[in-house]
Amino acid sequence: MTLRVGVDLGGSKIELIALDESGAELLRSRIPTPQGNYGATVQAVKALVSYAEAKLDTKTTVGIGMPGALSRATGLVKNANSTCLIGHDLKGDLEKALDREVRLANDANCFALSEAVDGAGKGAEVVFGVILGTGVGGGIVVHGRVLEGPNAIAGEWGHNPLPSPRKQDLPLPDCYCGRKGCIETFLSGPALKRDNDRARYEERLARALAGVINILDPHVIVLGGGISNIPSLYANVPVLWRPYVFSDRVETRLAPPVHGDSSGVRGAAWLWGR
Ligand SMILES: [Zn+2]
Repeated sequence: MTLRVGVDLGGSKIELIALDESGAELLRSRIPTPQGNYGATVQAVKALVSYAEAKLDTKTTVGIGMPGALSRATGLVKNANSTCLIGHDLKGDLEKALDREVRLANDANCFALSEAVDGAGKGAEVVFGVILGTGVGGGIVVHGRVLEGPNAIAGEWGHNPLPSPRKQDLPLPDCYCGRKGCIETFLSGPALKRDNDRARYEERLARALAGVINILDPHVIVLGGGISNIPSLYANVPVLWRPYVFSDRVETRLAPPVHGDSSGVRGAAWLWGR
């Protein structure tokens, strides 16, 4: 099999990993992201891939995990918090620079794919991967494939309203997206820090995930991002979500990530299949 290279295009660093068909890590490298400079960012990815191929002495496939998504209408980057990418033909420019087809996906989708292929959701039909970090994102993998959807936003639950708001949730916080009471305003890392009440956080997470279970009915929900390191979530939240799920039993498993911080970059590599 051709070796798989994954690149995680983050706001502060660009990380590369090379995997063999068993998922073993052959090489890893990271460099700081050129700040606010789109052309330099493309060149930095090219330099990283060239370095890896020289080291491995072979040509590889390249998958890229990125913030935001490619617009279905224009092919250009949208919804990215690394704003210098927005409006650019990132896929076209990377393909020119690397002289091959590249596959790009949202970083939350890469996280979900990594955990579905050989992580906490291995062998499960439907996996919902959740990022609980600076922001709240998500990705859906069905039978080992990322679900994208006609708007390229499948799994983006962070800007839905928190279901069944209670007194303690009011007044609904303003969100940067222009709405009020978005899930992200309650469940992001900064939101937990502000509120500083873990029991309330778990109850809100349970309500929000129950909304996902009622629609998608995933076999496994994998948590990622900084908040996924809180061990009590995995015991408490599945108890707390029961009253909100429209079923006599809830078989959905809530699991911590197997690959931790490496999931984004591993998932990018698996965009070319295992
Ligand atoms: Zn919002």
